[in-house]
Amino acid sequence: MDGKVAVVTGGAQGIGAAIATTLAERGATVVIADIRHDAAAAKAEEIEQRSGSRVRAARLDVTDPEAVRALAGSCGRVDVVVNNAGIATSAPTFELTDEAWRRTLDINLSGPFHVSREFGRLMRGRGGAIVNISSIAAFKATRPEVHVGYDVTKAGIIGLTRTLAAEWAREGIRVNAVAPGYTNTGILREVGAESPETVEAWKAQVPQHRLIEPAEIAEAVAFLASPAASAVTGHVLLADAGYTA
Ligand code: NAD
Repeated sequence: MDGKVAVVTGGAQGIGAAIATTLAERGATVVIADIRHDAAAAKAEEIEQRSGSRVRAARLDVTDPEAVRALAGSCGRVDVVVNNAGIATSAPTFELTDEAWRRTLDINLSGPFHVSREFGRLMRGRGGAIVNISSIAAFKATRPEVHVGYDVTKAGIIGLTRTLAAEWAREGIRVNAVAPGYTNTGILREVGAESPETVEAWKAQVPQHRLIEPAEIAEAVAFLASPAASAVTGHVLLADAGYTA
């Protein structure tokens, strides 16, 4: 990744921070674009010191197309974009409010659309790689009683990935997705992992019988973002410890 510029949305913590770390350790200049600027700035400084690569933070709400355009405009050249920012909205369908439904779609699906479109313009004709973060929830209703909004957006990400891959192949832009299984981050607490019993129940569904570490998801992303994956586009790479096997 030497000499490449990578933007990671939602990179202030969790999987996004691990992706930013791995890309920086492989020589990329990284922009961590997160709605929480202070957290992004602290993480950028930490990764910069650890990796020796340049890492900067930008405040970005992926639901705001103007802000996305402005950030793309300030970046000049970008080679890799990782659409990682996402939220988990948990409510039974009959209780899911219009606002919660819209917000989930805005962040998890419209966000990656805005970011891909605006950063795609920078890559157009000169090449680049986009990696979208989907989920096992795109393949199986992981918690059918509470997850309709989340599951729909993570399935939608795969449609976005395939269509952009086909449309932008002529521009030299590859578009792929990684679909993580249960990964050890803060989002798991939001979806009910506060009790050890819940975590054990999840592990029991996974052939490898464990949670995945964010750094393992980052490896899958780094491969798809790298020249080693030059023939891979429109692909969804499951990194799920065997959950969907
Ligand atoms: P996390 O909650 O730890 O981190 C999400 C990050 O996104 C945070 O830094 C947050 O500030 C940022 N963010 C939220 N809204 C934003 C917005 N509007 N604009 C910009 N940034 C915003 O979550 P995580 O577990 O690291 O998840 C990262 C991605 O991986 C998400 O898309 C999630 O759906 C996906 N995923 C996670 C798991 C898992 O088990 N953790 C499994 C499958 C998929």
